[in-house]
Amino acid sequence: MRAKTLRTWLDYLQSKGRLAVIDKPVRLKYEVAAIAKKLDGKQASYFTQVEDYSVPVVSGICSTREDFAEALETDLYGLIPKFTQAVASPIPCQLVDNNQAPVKQNITRENIDLMKLFPIPVHHDKDSGNYITAGLFIVRDPVTRKQNVSIHRLQVSGKDKLGALLLPRHTFHLYKQAEEAGRPLECAIVIGVDPATLLASQASTPFGVDELEIAGALRGEPLEVVRCETVDIDVPAFAEIVLEGKILPHVREPEGPFGEFPKYYGPRSDKEVVQITAVTHRNNPIFYTIVPAGYEHLLLGGIPREASLFQTIRQTVPTVKAVHMSPGGTCRYHAIVSIKKRNEGEAKNAIFAALANSFDIKHVVVVDEEVDIFDMEEVEWAIATRFQAQRDLVVVHGAQSSKLDPSTNEGVGSKMGLDCTVPLESEPMRYLRVAIPGYDSINLDEFVNPGNSKAVRFAEESS
Ligand code: MN
Repeated sequence: MRAKTLRTWLDYLQSKGRLAVIDKPVRLKYEVAAIAKKLDGKQASYFTQVEDYSVPVVSGICSTREDFAEALETDLYGLIPKFTQAVASPIPCQLVDNNQAPVKQNITRENIDLMKLFPIPVHHDKDSGNYITAGLFIVRDPVTRKQNVSIHRLQVSGKDKLGALLLPRHTFHLYKQAEEAGRPLECAIVIGVDPATLLASQASTPFGVDELEIAGALRGEPLEVVRCETVDIDVPAFAEIVLEGKILPHVREPEGPFGEFPKYYGPRSDKEVVQITAVTHRNNPIFYTIVPAGYEHLLLGGIPREASLFQTIRQTVPTVKAVHMSPGGTCRYHAIVSIKKRNEGEAKNAIFAALANSFDIKHVVVVDEEVDIFDMEEVEWAIATRFQAQRDLVVVHGAQSSKLDPSTNEGVGSKMGLDCTVPLESEPMRYLRVAIPGYDSINLDEFVNPGNSKAVRFAEESS
């Protein structure tokens, strides 16, 4: 396995020259986020001197599609099949003792003050305060004892208190059950894990599937977990930091605004509150933050969504080759799909399937299999030369959409699909791509500056 822990992954990035170590003192407010964002998509950033904190901050540990592929020991086109396979065949976790779990090296139960313990940054100008953006939020279903993992934005609302945005998904469902019975819901927030576990936390699965078991499948061996001190939750044993706590019943306090993935602010409103009951961490812990709306954030959401989208389209169009949720479309709103068209009309069915997969998907572009859907210039070329709005455009109005898309009417909006596939019966020369014979096999080094080339004189007379 390439990266069993955050630390082995950082070692790997450093060995490849993809870790920027920033030793100069930086401010918690905006400066960490600004530098990390400048390096987004290029290098991970590791800050050793964040104000007076002894704890370093890391961000951007996977900020390209290639980073995730490497962490999973596959390539660009292998990423989605590998993730899909892991979702289909989870591996149960292995429970280890405290003494085998580095995350238990330090345990704090009293006088918890999150901002004194950890450098939790402020990211955007209108954010309401310091936010934990990369915490794996783990809860347990008391009936099945299966755990659920997701990431929620967490506002530091007090010394030992967090405000959480719980969208109506699995965590929220378990919380509402507990709240209706008048009970809190126990939780653990895990900061600083390996890329596979991080990505697994974002899997689109039915309720009842433990995302840590998907992490095990991605890693090819059971994920080692350890029981928390004050709550009945199991957390990755090699995590950097764990915050234990409970979501309080019938308590709501102001949270937000907060800069979100579409590069707009999510609004302030009364939201659920997490009371922290214990903090455990490794010796010399590393604090991990995700800069919202950066490539790391977008890809973390996008790759697992692509896996789900691919499965949905394949049920309708078995010859789907690949799907791409592009960063320009926030890795949520735009889906690009390549298919090997066998029957006329299949591209339109692929559009319907994509729009049915998630209400977030707004625009769908379907292209033939030979178009590289990870190259957006290729995609634009297909739209430019293979699409006629009169026959190739699908538009549906008044459908459920993303509430975070400010152009919708409170989450109700239009959907659009573009069929950019070549008509099957078209005359072969009409859509034949130009090609230069021998182009692919040319080795430029043999022709350009091979070492013995003479300088050419262009200007004949001195002026
Ligand atoms: Mn889940």
